[in-house]
Amino acid sequence: MTSPVALITGAARGIGLATARLFAADGWQVAMIDRDAPALAEAAAGLAGGHPVVCDVSDPAQVDGMVAQVLDMLGRIDAVVNNAGVADFGPVAEHDYARWRTVMATNLDGVFLVSQACIPALQATRGAIVNIGSISGLRASTLRVAYGTSKAAVIHLTKQQAAELGEWGIRANCVCPGPVRTKLAMAVHSPDIIAAYHDAIPLNRYGSETEIAQAIRFLCSDSASYITGQVLAADGGFDATGIGLPALRR
Ligand code: NDP
Repeated sequence: MTSPVALITGAARGIGLATARLFAADGWQVAMIDRDAPALAEAAAGLAGGHPVVCDVSDPAQVDGMVAQVLDMLGRIDAVVNNAGVADFGPVAEHDYARWRTVMATNLDGVFLVSQACIPALQATRGAIVNIGSISGLRASTLRVAYGTSKAAVIHLTKQQAAELGEWGIRANCVCPGPVRTKLAMAVHSPDIIAAYHDAIPLNRYGSETEIAQAIRFLCSDSASYITGQVLAADGGFDATGIGLPALRR
């Protein structure tokens, strides 16, 4: 029997690489997509079943070429994990249009483009899409005008995909991670933000890349065969809580 194939974007490091490792450990072939060619080559070299394809997911022509290359190489696509993302935090009054567009181009356009290019292949396998949102798309906070809005849009895009693609047996779900100490997060999480997250999270800690990857793998698996259009926060309880926790900790 042919091995199932997962296409994972932003797979050179962080949550994407941890997800690629889980799928590979389960015997999947993994198309590892990223724009950072050296990091991607190194990550794929260390993973049996990992196949690197360099691509900027915000570029429609590159996305079409990448999906064609994956199908040529691996023959099928059973799961698409739209994980590539960028973060840029800035005040709403000063966040200029170029910065807004850069965030939207990867975080929102990239999810739209990669998913759409994979639809024919997913129709053939009755496959699954998992989009990576964020707790910043579930709850507003300071400095996240572009990032948080892009992730809220990803959550809704997921529901749009589920609404239409269910006809073909394709499921679409969204995982919203809480904070994880990756390159992306550490570039924007100041000491104040790190302390505030610890205070606001019932489990009182950051998550790990693997803890997020496990939620992604579940939603791509047959164990989630009747789940579509859902948003799963893997966030230590952040989204469930309001006021009170910091007072309790003191
Ligand atoms: P990392 O920075 O560790 O990894 C993201 C990878 O995606 C990088 O290799 C990055 O390359 C690549 N990438 C970015 N833009 C593109 C693009 N246009 N085309 C192809 N590859 C691209 O980030 P994380 O693992 O932390 O993030 C993964 C996802 O999880 C993101 O969508 C993020 O928003 C989300 N998330 C992360 C949280 C966290 O705390 N870490 C919390 C909530 C959500 P490069 O280095 O060149 O940018």
